[in-house]
Amino acid sequence: MEVIHPSVKRAMLEAQSDPDRYWASQAEKLPWFRKWDNVFNWTPPTFRWFEGGRTNLSYNAVDHHVTHGRAGHAALIGLNEWGERRTYTYAQLQDEVKQVARGLRGIGVRRGDRVAIYMPTMPEAIIAMLACTRIGAIHIVIFAGFGGSALAERIRLAGAKVLLAADRTQRKGKTVWLMPIVEKALEQAQVERVVVLRRGEGQPDLVPGRDIDWPDFIAAGQGQSDAYEEMESNEPAYILATSGTTASPKLAVHVHGGYAVGIHSAARVVFGLSPDDVWWSTSDIGWVVGHSYIVYAPLLVGATTIAYEGAIDYPSPSSFYRIIEREKVSGIFTAPTAVRMLMAHGTAAAAGVDFTALERVFSAGEVLNPPAWEWMQKDLFQDRIPVIDHWWQTETGGPVMANAWGLGLSAIKPGAAGIPIPGCFAEVRTAEGEPVAPGEKGILILTRPFPSLTPTIWQDPERYAREYWQRIPGTYFTGDAVHVDEDGYIWFSGRADEIIKIAGHRIGTIEVETAFLRHPAVAEAGVTGRPDELRGEVASAFIVLRQGHQPSEELKKELLRTVREELGAVVVVGEINFVHSLPKTRSGKIMRRVFKAVILKKDPGDISTIEDEGSVEDARDAWREIQAQIGD
Ligand code: AMP
Repeated sequence: MEVIHPSVKRAMLEAQSDPDRYWASQAEKLPWFRKWDNVFNWTPPTFRWFEGGRTNLSYNAVDHHVTHGRAGHAALIGLNEWGERRTYTYAQLQDEVKQVARGLRGIGVRRGDRVAIYMPTMPEAIIAMLACTRIGAIHIVIFAGFGGSALAERIRLAGAKVLLAADRTQRKGKTVWLMPIVEKALEQAQVERVVVLRRGEGQPDLVPGRDIDWPDFIAAGQGQSDAYEEMESNEPAYILATSGTTASPKLAVHVHGGYAVGIHSAARVVFGLSPDDVWWSTSDIGWVVGHSYIVYAPLLVGATTIAYEGAIDYPSPSSFYRIIEREKVSGIFTAPTAVRMLMAHGTAAAAGVDFTALERVFSAGEVLNPPAWEWMQKDLFQDRIPVIDHWWQTETGGPVMANAWGLGLSAIKPGAAGIPIPGCFAEVRTAEGEPVAPGEKGILILTRPFPSLTPTIWQDPERYAREYWQRIPGTYFTGDAVHVDEDGYIWFSGRADEIIKIAGHRIGTIEVETAFLRHPAVAEAGVTGRPDELRGEVASAFIVLRQGHQPSEELKKELLRTVREELGAVVVVGEINFVHSLPKTRSGKIMRRVFKAVILKKDPGDISTIEDEGSVEDARDAWREIQAQIGD
């Protein structure tokens, strides 16, 4: 059976034979103030796309539509779980963005400065992002579920000059106060000013000299210019932190030109996005999906994008479906953890809902497990529309592989991440870089940069080279263990490094270990992921206590509290095991595969890893020891 449609194969082959020409043709679909001199300049490990081109991500996303006949078209619909609804046409969005751009200039923000945004998925936050990129300031959005230390570290690494913060958000009916977290963060990191958006009753006090109320911030912009900056294609538009294999997160850089071209191209090729779409990505602006597919790409296309704050199953399990019906949503981007949650509520929650406007659903972030896919595809949507898994990372800015772009149901292989999209090149290799045959497990690598791939890590080009391009020299290392089948579909089997995915959010086990170590009772901590039906994975911890401390339920609770304060609610710790010592290699490295083997009740020799973690014999000895300590 021919799985991939001939027309798609043709497009792929064309892109394959001359990728630069393909990407140039994609770039031509966006406005440029000045056309590029050179499509692609690869100077390993970094690269530059559309050199010499002048553009502006925010201008292309907003102003261009206003001046091209779409001023009155709905650009943004801000919804939340307590029922507010605010819409902005492209012209209104432009006015708001200009206002905040003036405000930013009024408090001294200039081109190249970093602006931290600690706000939930609400219109003001999106307007702030667009205002930053408009004036050439570089935003770093920090997910509003992160704790104080995580926030501080991101502010510090980015060298942010100002912080824009909301005083609160709401989740499942509960107010989450953000300012105490900001206060904790600012004990460890410094910014010049904090702009505070106070929302309703019980407003927090402001710190004189440091804090500025949102309306005063807007007023401070009076008389300032709201002109957009013409940016060279390779100038950073934003940076976004993602977990790596050390305690310190990596700040991926995304640029004005290549990033816009990559995400705009994928929006059309993978998601079939058009200006008539009402698009709802259920992610959060704190993640890359939120940046690319709540904010920038739908706006680059000229579509209507929905930004939703809160839990999609609150106030009722049918809330998600009611929004689709009421807003006539035509395309959805969601995550496997959300699909599994909807599945747990059952199809009854969708009874009587009119889905006629809805044309397709996409999922990414982790494997869309075949049972969850089947439930959504067949039970919920009765095979009327495709539910499509696709793969990408914070660093790739947008999709790299997808199941079936506009091909219909027959091309979907449930459980597979899909085939590389045109202009992207993926292969499977051994850890030593040798090619592997179809069906054999290996590491997923990308063999050629594409425009939305991060060209560096903020202020750390060595780490970028080391972690991505030198592990299997000359190729981009994704960290994913996969195999490819005869049709070229990629099947994900796990991370090959120390990253876990909790509800689709990438968390470095070492970050969690470091958070545990902040508690005075903890001498050593080892963390791994444990499979979890709803969240994909949760953290499982092995803790060695310091002399004089005894294991207790009370201490467990305290440790959980510590991790929560440090990293935020995003890190879900499923269990804490107290042990006398951690399994270590002779060189003193924690053998995390031993934890994994204990948790999965497997032999350590069956746990694949690319990290150097000592011999299987040592691992088995350590496994027996841990097993004896924690019982079964
Ligand atoms: P993040 O940078 O947080 O978006 O995480 C990227 C990682 O998520 C990838 O390296 C994969 O491990 C995982 N991932 C993303 N999409 C998929 C997918 N469709 N199937 C399997 N794993 C995925």
